[in-house]
Amino acid sequence: MAYINDNFIKIPATYLFSEIAKRVAQHKTENPNADIIRMGIGDVTLPLPDASVDAMITAANEQRKSETFRGYGPEQGYDFLRNSIVENDFKSCGIDIEADEIFVSDGAKSDTGNIGDIFGLQNRVAITDPSYPVYVDTNAMGGRAGEPSASGQWTNLVYLPCNTANNFVPELPYEKVDIIYLCYPNNPTGTTLTKEQLTVWVNYARENNAIILFDAAYEAYITEENVPHSIFEIEGAKNVAIEFRSFSKTAGFTGTRCGYTVVPKSVTALSENGEKVSLNRLWLRRQTTKFNGTSYVVQRAAEATYSLEGKKQVRALVDYYMENARIIRESLQAAGLTVYGGVNAPYIWTKTPDGIGSWEYFDYMLKEKNIVCTPGAGFGPAGEGFVRFSAFGSRENTLKAMKRLEK
Ligand SMILES: *Cc1c(COP(=O)(O)O)cnc(C)c1O
Repeated sequence: MAYINDNFIKIPATYLFSEIAKRVAQHKTENPNADIIRMGIGDVTLPLPDASVDAMITAANEQRKSETFRGYGPEQGYDFLRNSIVENDFKSCGIDIEADEIFVSDGAKSDTGNIGDIFGLQNRVAITDPSYPVYVDTNAMGGRAGEPSASGQWTNLVYLPCNTANNFVPELPYEKVDIIYLCYPNNPTGTTLTKEQLTVWVNYARENNAIILFDAAYEAYITEENVPHSIFEIEGAKNVAIEFRSFSKTAGFTGTRCGYTVVPKSVTALSENGEKVSLNRLWLRRQTTKFNGTSYVVQRAAEATYSLEGKKQVRALVDYYMENARIIRESLQAAGLTVYGGVNAPYIWTKTPDGIGSWEYFDYMLKEKNIVCTPGAGFGPAGEGFVRFSAFGSRENTLKAMKRLEK
């Protein structure tokens, strides 16, 4: 008899996006002519930068000839890409990271989900609420979350509520935690931490021998000074943090798939017999065992985002979405709504008026305005009373949707 990993059946079905799809489909059936604008998506809509497409074509042609053909590459990524990452994402910002601390992958979802493999089940895990669902669900699958409760919270996870009362800055937990997931700029709230606010967490980790898992997937969207682009800008972080980056939101790689994880050689955690073990060594072991590397062609496409042309094209993509974000933020404000985010991130976190529920407000937006947003409750209990608008749509649709709010 074969047995399943029972942790999987404890996880409530991810009902957020399927429920949205169901309600949109029903509205469409009842109103076949409705011009529905989707502002709930977390996916980009603009095509890849030309520099990346050109690099893929060149690489594909190399794969055509036996002299230039490449089979299995290094699991951690080719040196050409790891060196470009070091130079452009870290050295240029004055951060000292070495190429063997970079692990190239097929994206940050895999890495933030898989990182749990190298940590013991006895760790106490803290997660901001609301959050990107991958952190909670993968800890549940691994058996580190305990049991789901009626409130929507897992018994063994420590939730760090981010709400209007703390201006979306998570407070240090009352009980000691060992692993902390932070995502800044944040999905779904679009908010950020200043250097000082992130320093509080790095200092906590240093004092409590905790590890911070820092998801910086939206780093390219930062526009304000004093918002750290990398946790390694904070003194001492190289001893306590792992950082996740992605080309998905930055350069439109959501369907092309490339990201990377930075595991400094100085980050350690304890073995059961009290020995300090390098997490870089463990992650290398994990990746070389379970992962066979990102496609060569895709790594060339990622490398091309760091060329002169590539950088300009990536900047243009980010600027386009951030102009959408400005339009959404200002239109929602003009309509009398209270909004957060949208300044350093492509998400606008909007308080529902008169404290109505996030699904109720979702239905109102759908039925009255033909606009699809994302109910905040889908990102965790503290997301109730909010909806998320995404700036990843086209300019035309963004303007059209916002015009409907004026009425
Ligand atoms: C989109 C997103 C990612 C990136 O995922 P990929 O697998 O690289 O496409 C990671 N973290 C957060 C919070 C995201 O929203």
